[in-house]
Amino acid sequence: MRMRKLPWAEDFLNEQEVVVKEPAQYKGTWKEMLDCTCLHVEIGTGKGDYWTKMSQCYPDFGWIGVEKNSSVAALAVRKFVNMEGKKEHMRFIQDDAEEIAQWFAHGEVDVIHLNFSDPWPKKRAHKKRLSNHKFIAQYADILSDDGEIQMKTDNSSLFEYSIMEFQNEGWYLHDFSVDYRRVEHDEDVITEYENRFMERNQPIYRAVWKKHP
Ligand code: SAM
Repeated sequence: MRMRKLPWAEDFLNEQEVVVKEPAQYKGTWKEMLDCTCLHVEIGTGKGDYWTKMSQCYPDFGWIGVEKNSSVAALAVRKFVNMEGKKEHMRFIQDDAEEIAQWFAHGEVDVIHLNFSDPWPKKRAHKKRLSNHKFIAQYADILSDDGEIQMKTDNSSLFEYSIMEFQNEGWYLHDFSVDYRRVEHDEDVITEYENRFMERNQPIYRAVWKKHP
């Protein structure tokens, strides 16, 4: 779904300290900055429900949200501004994650979350999928040895594609479900998109990959 451009978004994002303007400057220092030993990064936060709520459920971890669309990012950051609770362990990057390995040092990230990523159904656009091998190669670099990628989607084609891409890159499928929300998972917040699919009784696919068994 395309969102109309919000005229206030860019000025608003520029004014917010939580928004990191030049993330590559902080490569290798994120855990110190966020005072944590475990760093989570969500790519494609959308309006920020997951990023804001998970950071409150797990305040000992560091939480970085990444969203390329400035209007959507502004809504996520506005959610952050209006929320109560601990905030020092959170940051936001409004940019395309296509060069994410420039922002984080080798092994610096512990968990990458890909929630309902854009499916890019046309074959020529598959390279934009966040589970394309070019992204996976960067995840392999920035993830810690025991780190993991957690992916959820409603889209069976994207799911199958992702399973194959990670397998081809030599990753280990650590966990897998084709109907994740059939049982309750209170430990994992429901995203905006996920809510829509659950209301339509569509199954939620989920996979977790690690670099090693
Ligand atoms: N994760 C949210 C949810 O589950 O409700 C939003 C899902 S929405 C379908 C996917 C989001 O990912 C969009 O807001 C899009 O702008 C963002 N996105 C897609 N590719 C991206 C990229 N390369 N870097 C950063 N954000 C990206």
